[in-house]
Amino acid sequence: MKLRTSEVSRIAAFAEACRAAIGEKYVLDAPEDTAAYRSDFWRQHHGRSPYVVRPASTEEVAKVVGLAAKFKVQLVVQGGNTGLVNGSIPDSSGRQVVLSLNRLNAVRAIDTTGDYIVVEAGCILADVQKAAAGGGRMFPLSLGAEGSCRIGGNLATNAGGNNVLRYGSARDQVLGLEVVLADGSIWNGLQTLRKDNTGYDLKQLFVGSEGTLGVITAAALRLVASPRERVTLWLTVAGAEDAITLFARFRSRFGDLISSFELIHTNGVGLAARHLSGTRRPVDDTESPWHVLVELAWTFEHGLQARAEEMLGELFEAGLCKDGGMAASEQQRLNMWRVREGQSEAAREVGTVVRSDVSVAIPQIPVLLARIEKFVRQLDASIVFMPFGHVGDGNLHVNFVVPADGADVLGPKLLDSLFNAVTQLGGSISAEHGVGRTKRTRIGKMKAGASLQLMKLIKNALDPNRVLNAGIGVV
Ligand SMILES: Cc1cc2nc3c(=O)[nH]c(=O)nc-3n(C[C@H](O)[C@H](O)[C@H](O)COP(=O)(O)OP(=O)(O)OC[C@H]3O[C@@H](n4cnc5c(N)ncnc54)[C@H](O)[C@@H]3O)c2cc1C
Repeated sequence: MKLRTSEVSRIAAFAEACRAAIGEKYVLDAPEDTAAYRSDFWRQHHGRSPYVVRPASTEEVAKVVGLAAKFKVQLVVQGGNTGLVNGSIPDSSGRQVVLSLNRLNAVRAIDTTGDYIVVEAGCILADVQKAAAGGGRMFPLSLGAEGSCRIGGNLATNAGGNNVLRYGSARDQVLGLEVVLADGSIWNGLQTLRKDNTGYDLKQLFVGSEGTLGVITAAALRLVASPRERVTLWLTVAGAEDAITLFARFRSRFGDLISSFELIHTNGVGLAARHLSGTRRPVDDTESPWHVLVELAWTFEHGLQARAEEMLGELFEAGLCKDGGMAASEQQRLNMWRVREGQSEAAREVGTVVRSDVSVAIPQIPVLLARIEKFVRQLDASIVFMPFGHVGDGNLHVNFVVPADGADVLGPKLLDSLFNAVTQLGGSISAEHGVGRTKRTRIGKMKAGASLQLMKLIKNALDPNRVLNAGIGVV
């Protein structure tokens, strides 16, 4: 699409004004400098953008957004650019400018009596975890992309990850937010109170809004006690039903001491062990179709391992588990997590990955998996079925590897079948990754009229001129 000359001049005038406001070198325009901001994490989606603007403070973000409102320029907000629904990069029009938050990366405060940390939006998640650990506390949000994703992006997507079962998703960690609104004004809701019932909970409006209502510039986040003893188990089971029974047994015995309960198909384990350097199969069992990764933790120093061993004995005696055991060292534990987290990376060695992120009620998980596996078998023998996910949250990434030259035909068929099955089972087609551009049309059709209407009212009230993330999210 070619832009009109007047539009090109208007966007250039905006960029000039940004240069004056935040400094010449923080407005990028050379294609080689902007390239990384225009493509998504897996380099599957590519957008066009004449400029990338990189402010360094809340006040500078406010200036940039104010200028975008004045010059009627569309901004796409970007954190670590690890989002999986094509919501952090510009579209193909060439009229959207990327607003990167990466230079806002200070830890403003940490308080281990009040148990909170105040960080700027561009802090990398792993750095927030390290800062919390440095103060003898834990920041519990944890996901595969934690070395690159930024806290602003985590909050904007209401990220889930590996510890939701115990600590909740990103939404549950927030005490307060600082946000630049679409007109360039700053809303200071950066409080650290645990209780405040004086009206609407405004901060929660911005969490999970995918940058469509405001630009998060800083957050006050709650911290929790660091666990002292941790037990990590890798088990194999004969069927997905057994994994669900196993989950119920662990839940009854260990309650909230379970931080992760992950299910992984044997195909994904095989791919990870073959293609990720330095990675080994956690167990020798290549026959069982499903593997389970369980992590338990508590704040005492001893006693959890013995309790887990006792439980393991009972599970093997009952025939619920086929193989498996406990990580005997931190190295073994990290290997287990590498197999769990690295499947998509490994799968790229053999084809194109068709990704998904769905949720259903926990008892429906085996039903969903059986339906999709049957569909895959009937559709094409070359497809590798490799679902995995946070089963304790009812959240699965039902992924498939397809031959690169067949992705355009097979991908939509697989996702249609999956989304239909999920909808029939009363589930959600986006459990933790959001809507972005990838799911916008589908979700727009599925949401009930009244919900859609309310969302439009909110968007129109906060960003009537569509300055922020146009074309992203539900409305
Ligand atoms: C290997 C891998 C593993 C992953 N595992 C998980 C997982 O387990 N659970 C999970 O939930 N996700 C997972 N993700 C997805 C992704 O990491 C999360 O969505 C993450 O929260 C995105 O953070 P980000 O900083 O990269 O945001 P970006 O990708 O930059 O942006 C994501 C969205 O948030 C908006 N946004 C970004 N920053 C701001 C801000 N400051 N203010 C307002 N809007 C903003 C963007 O416009 C965009 O719409 C994974 C991704 C990868 C690549």
